[in-house]
Amino acid sequence: MQIVVDLTRCQAYAQCVFLAPQVFSLPGEEALLYRPAVPDDQLERVHQAAAACPVQAILVGEEVSSGAR
Ligand code: SF4
Repeated sequence: MQIVVDLTRCQAYAQCVFLAPQVFSLPGEEALLYRPAVPDDQLERVHQAAAACPVQAILVGEEVSSGAR
């Protein structure tokens, strides 16, 4: 499954890193890194991360195409 993080929205709160550390990481204090192609075993965690993001910066699955327009 594909995800996109809107990095202009992301405030590096790191909720997603905490919930899905295999997908999201914050190597510095500001720039979030993530894997756009999420492995199946991480889907549940990524959904939790998307729900937990305080600024709704994480777009998951079908939201990726609709959100990009
Ligand atoms: S939870 Fe949201 S704001 Fe926080 S680092 Fe992740 S994407 Fe960025």
